[in-house]
Amino acid sequence: VKDEGRGALRFFEAAMDVQLQGRRELEQELRGAIGRDELRLFYQPIVKGGGEIESFEALVRWHHPVRGLVSPAAFIPLAEQTDQIARIGEWVLDTACAAAARWPQPWRVSVNVSPNQFRQSDLPAVVAAALARHGLEPDRLVLEITEGVFIQDAATAVAVLNALRSLGVRLALDDFGTGYSSLSYLQQFRFDKIKVDQSFVRRLGEDENSLTIVRAITHLGHNLGLEVTAEGVETAEQLAMLRDLGCDQMQGYLFARPAAATASERDRARLRSL
Ligand code: C2E
Ligand code: CA
Ligand code: CA
Ligand code: CA
Repeated sequence: VKDEGRGALRFFEAAMDVQLQGRRELEQELRGAIGRDELRLFYQPIVKGGGEIESFEALVRWHHPVRGLVSPAAFIPLAEQTDQIARIGEWVLDTACAAAARWPQPWRVSVNVSPNQFRQSDLPAVVAAALARHGLEPDRLVLEITEGVFIQDAATAVAVLNALRSLGVRLALDDFGTGYSSLSYLQQFRFDKIKVDQSFVRRLGEDENSLTIVRAITHLGHNLGLEVTAEGVETAEQLAMLRDLGCDQMQGYLFARPAAATASERDRARLRSL
């Protein structure tokens, strides 16, 4: 039994080594990804209650020569744990601002900023430079922040958010309701909008609790003077309920999946006919 246990342990350690090596390899490859022009931005429309497009969320993908299209869930956390997130974040911001500067006037671009990017880089300077470089009006850029930015040092986070606010960009609190103290963050900083996490939207229509929660979040947001966006809208039934609740904007596969900019043109035509 003792031997068997040791064997299992050795097997486990070997498996861990393989996994660690895989991570290191991926990290090494990620280091050169920008230089090799392997990162791509996909865009997903965020639509108003009436069906018009309000903005597009930029979602990064890694076009890996061997692995194919790698999802951000597989490499953003890796970049977050190393020093790479600042560079990737800068590339995303720059590319998104360049794209939005070519879009029709009213459309905004929404860009995700992860917690370590928020902490590592001088974000207000990076954002100001990207806006200036492409001549994009600040009000057409939305930064999506998660509650993770407040952990460690909330006072500094609020100072950075205020500096971003003075640039004139819009600020959204992403994945709302999934953290530990969502309400406390709303108290500490006045965002322009909250994005109701998909986990709540997904179960709308399946259970009464989810409806109650989404209704409460929507009312809370509106009473605080914030816009409310629901993400992960997949069915017509969810859309009807969200419209009923007075949700300001909606985003999800029902409207369009994230797609390369050229494909967004097609989505636009499709959306017009919705
Ligand atoms: P997120 O910011 O919450 O983005 C929404 C995610 O939900 C996206 O996944 C999107 O493709 C997906 N989604 C949209 N509509 C639906 C729907 O109707 N049903 C379902 N099941 N999913 C839907 P994606 O693109 O894989 O991104 C995953 C996460 O990776 C993002 O979550 C965000 O946290 C992160 N991420 C993506 N791009 C960037 C980026 O440029 N920078 C940073 N820092 N993080 C990024
Ligand atoms: Ca987001
Ligand atoms: Ca989200
Ligand atoms: Ca998320």
